[in-house]
Amino acid sequence: MDHFPIFLSTKGQRIVLSGGGEAALAKLRLLMKSQAKISVYAADPAPELVQWAEAGRITLHKRALRLGDVLCAKLFYAADEDAIEDARTAAIARAEGALVNIVDNLHDSAFITPAIVDRDPVTIAIGTEGAAPVLARAIKADLEERLPATLGTLARIGKGFRKMADALPFGRPRRDFWRDYYFNAGPRAVADGEAAVGEALDTLLADHLTRAARAGHIAFVGGGPGDPELLTLKARRALDEADVVIYDRLISPEILELARREALMIDVGKEGFGPSTSQETINDLLVEHAQNGAQVVRLKSGDATVFGRLDEEIDAVDAHNIGWHIVPGITSASAAVAAIGQSLTKRNRNASVRFLTGHDMKGFADHDWATLARPGEVAAIYMGKKSARFIQGRLIMHGADRTTPVTVIENASRPEQRILETTLGRLPVDLTDADMNGPALTFYGLAPRAAALASTEILQEEMA
Ligand code: SAH
Repeated sequence: MDHFPIFLSTKGQRIVLSGGGEAALAKLRLLMKSQAKISVYAADPAPELVQWAEAGRITLHKRALRLGDVLCAKLFYAADEDAIEDARTAAIARAEGALVNIVDNLHDSAFITPAIVDRDPVTIAIGTEGAAPVLARAIKADLEERLPATLGTLARIGKGFRKMADALPFGRPRRDFWRDYYFNAGPRAVADGEAAVGEALDTLLADHLTRAARAGHIAFVGGGPGDPELLTLKARRALDEADVVIYDRLISPEILELARREALMIDVGKEGFGPSTSQETINDLLVEHAQNGAQVVRLKSGDATVFGRLDEEIDAVDAHNIGWHIVPGITSASAAVAAIGQSLTKRNRNASVRFLTGHDMKGFADHDWATLARPGEVAAIYMGKKSARFIQGRLIMHGADRTTPVTVIENASRPEQRILETTLGRLPVDLTDADMNGPALTFYGLAPRAAALASTEILQEEMA
């Protein structure tokens, strides 16, 4: 790094520039963002310079720079776009003690002016030490697009609030408050104007002060199969009181809507970012927020205790002595069996029902196929779409009847719910034809009760 970046205080300081053409204008447009006193020397100034001088933004001297003109100046810009003139003015400026920049002459310059992204008071300076101005411009354009125009407003208001926020304990609680402000409460309020941002800061601080004073806690909440009306009252209450909600991919937007408006919502199941958030990251998030005193809701689809990797999360929070409890939810097997108007168990048919997963972390999951293959057995298969052919093969190998009913319920309890009625023999083919993209639960050994289907779409009929 040849050039070390610093942010120089220029308030009330003198900056001198020699030149009256394009290069001078470009530099001055930047310099006028500062609160420096700017003097310009130009024998033949461009009209803009005259206007700026009339508006009091610069002091304009309509003559060439002379000895003594740069006295007491911090910075000097040689912007005459003429190598000989620039060398002359730069020599004067150096002798009079200013740091010198010669436009387009990196070699003889004591400093360079970076490309600037201005969200005052947030300023981003981009420099390539002259290597690639194109690159600097591209980075600038990229940042300009990415940083909301309101960032400056948020930062300015936030700066004025720093003393107030010092009421929070130093360290994590304070950092958390500011993170919440800049990435959550602030951006949400800023659309309603500066007064709204001020109010949001007051509310947020009160909130974080209570948080800092109490112990963190985690509620592992079952969010049910998707229909918000299938949430328990306890789940609703937990969402209502949450400071932080950490949720999975299958949680429907209608349910997220029920969380407290101020709650920090963390999506740990994002698709499109490749694999979803790692289990360790989720564990760390739980611990971090609870240790900050947050009331955390860990929202999982269905019932948190069914194929939800709940125990790994409990072990992680136990290791930090964090309090927790479980709020049961309606598992998708319950919602799916309701959709087809059947019972999970039935006298003289099946006295037990199995919950199976189609695959686990190692791949397709193995089960007691021989027992399952016996007539009358019922199983609710979670995550069973990809493994349908594997499951079919194993069951038939162990003597299961190909005509055993199989029903696949996609998006159980949601408006997009679909039911595929098939048999063990036809399962993989029918499933491919049905082209299901939503979460689906497969019932082995259960067919829909005819009467229950009057009002729903049945794929088998549709395809026949
Ligand atoms: N804890 C959840 C299961 C998580 S595993 C529960 O109790 O339901 C994820 C699997 O659940 C999905 O692959 C799918 O098989 C099933 N599932 C979740 N929501 C569903 C829904 N609305 N309809 C059908 N199956 C669903």
